[in-house]
Amino acid sequence: MIRFDHVTKRYADGTTAVDDLSFEVNEGELVTLVGPSGCGKTTTMMMVNRLIEPTSGHIHVEGEDISGVDPVRLRRRIGYVIQQVGLFPHRTILDNTATVPALIGWKKSKARARAAELLDLVGLDPSTYGSRYPEQLSGGQRQRVGVARALAADPPVLLMDEPFGAVDPVVREQLQDEFLKMQAAVRKTVLLVTHDIEEAVRLGDRIAVYGQGRIEQYDTPGAVLGSP
Ligand code: ADP
Ligand code: ADP
Repeated sequence: MIRFDHVTKRYADGTTAVDDLSFEVNEGELVTLVGPSGCGKTTTMMMVNRLIEPTSGHIHVEGEDISGVDPVRLRRRIGYVIQQVGLFPHRTILDNTATVPALIGWKKSKARARAAELLDLVGLDPSTYGSRYPEQLSGGQRQRVGVARALAADPPVLLMDEPFGAVDPVVREQLQDEFLKMQAAVRKTVLLVTHDIEEAVRLGDRIAVYGQGRIEQYDTPGAVLGSP
């Protein structure tokens, strides 16, 4: 579903952020990228939606080499959640969630019905929260809206960069649980970046353990925990 083939990213200042990386993510698989700050996790993820271009190598999404795909069209197939989701302050939660379906031309009624369904899925009752504004929600609730928004146009792929990083530990665990339940229902192909090995183990079907610019181990949580 996602395949990296000898991908290297060297930034203009000479930093090699990702060094000859090859790995595959299967359809419906949730892979966590874990490792210390600066080891290339975010760079890896942002090459999948072409917010960053590789220096060399190839990336395939759904069997297609993405270097030939228009980035805007590519991003319609890829949901993206970051640590501090940017919601539009003057739009309701329902309209925020319906942003992408509306952008890609869904009818307003269909986009809103879909948004309500997704809010429900991430544990926010749309009849209670749909008409509120972002500032009326807690940080954890806003992250849920970010997840709902990323899924609203039903992309096969979801990229998540420290999605639960900005909330306190109790809320984080709750969001992780709900996310796992949701993922069991929707089965997206997910890449999730975290610096927290516990989170990587808890969420990942497989874990990519990063060293500097490289994946040093790529295996199931059990195998990663069992290794010396
Ligand atoms: P991580 O997500 O694991 O923290 P990043 O992918 O953000 O790592 O960064 C990998 C390396 O690339 C780091 O050394 C970082 O400083 C460097 N880097 C990231 N973005 C840029 C950039 N735009 N220009 C130069 N170096 C960068
Ligand atoms: P802004 O420019 O203020 O960030 P956008 O309308 O570009 O607002 O984006 C709002 C959200 O929708 C962002 O999370 C962005 O990643 C996502 N988004 C925007 N355009 C697209 C698109 N064509 N396909 C998928 N997601 C998109």
